[in-house]
Amino acid sequence: MIETSVKDNYERPILSLRITLTNRCNLNCLYCHHDGMVRSDDEMTPDEIYTICKIAKKLGVKKIRISGGEPLLKKDIVEIVRKIASLNFKDISMTTNGTLLEKYAKDLKDAGLDRVNVSLDTLDRKTYEHITKKDYLTEAKNGILKAVEVGLYPVKINMVIMKDINQNEIKKMFKFAKKHDIVLQLIELIESENCDDDKFSEDYHYNLDSIEKELSDIASDVHERKFMQGRKKYYINDGEIEIVRPVDNSKFCANCSRLRITPDGKIKPCLLRNDNLVELISHIRNNESEKDLEKIFLQGINNREPFNK
Ligand code: SAM
Repeated sequence: MIETSVKDNYERPILSLRITLTNRCNLNCLYCHHDGMVRSDDEMTPDEIYTICKIAKKLGVKKIRISGGEPLLKKDIVEIVRKIASLNFKDISMTTNGTLLEKYAKDLKDAGLDRVNVSLDTLDRKTYEHITKKDYLTEAKNGILKAVEVGLYPVKINMVIMKDINQNEIKKMFKFAKKHDIVLQLIELIESENCDDDKFSEDYHYNLDSIEKELSDIASDVHERKFMQGRKKYYINDGEIEIVRPVDNSKFCANCSRLRITPDGKIKPCLLRNDNLVELISHIRNNESEKDLEKIFLQGINNREPFNK
């Protein structure tokens, strides 16, 4: 299957497309990198998103991830998922803060969504409010449980680890995750020019070395996920913890197979850069041919370069 996917200039196949549907969010997380996006109010229609996915499919993309902002703020989110699902991708997933998931989980599953990652950095109400500036912890937890109940699988929890904020909560979070057959993903804090507090990552970055050491000591098995940025997955007492370490990590970049789309319809070759975007949506709005749109997509792929070499 991989042989049919287009490769970039560094022999990395393009297997997944991450579409950021909107910049809008109902939380205001103090560390948020906003998916590395330059803010814009323009958003794509379900038909435009469908067209983008159709070209991606033709070029060998296997997986679609829907993200934001908060994707569940899009009123037409179920229609968007349905249209993408009609293209028969191997995997359609969503990253969400979960606060509206209880309401949407069943419809999303029925529309063809395979799985969700729910961002939840803490189970403590005060810490949740400190991080997100909102009192939606119950809603987020209910959203997670509903996703499990309707059969979105696997459900993953994205937990960004922050020094002196939540690094002591990993055990508690793993216990919660394991109880509900959820995979826990520990994410290293990335420095972000989009983050409102520019000293934040300096003050709160937590090196995951000690956590990885502890996990490897107790894990019954460890897998490295090729094409998924070389992420390590630790199997512990019938539970799973995955580690996402993008900072100064050449292995992460060497194994990156992901292209991104911004909410205003530009191709974004790398999470960590905004100086090599490729305009796409105006070409779709001008009704250009599929062949021409494919060429623009290939230009986006051609612009891919490992951020950490
Ligand atoms: N609103 C959705 C959510 O909360 O999952 C999707 C958008 S959010 C930007 C996507 C993911 O990026 C979340 O899992 C979040 O934790 C992660 N993220 C945001 N800022 C980050 C940072 N500075 N470092 C590491 N991960 C970050």
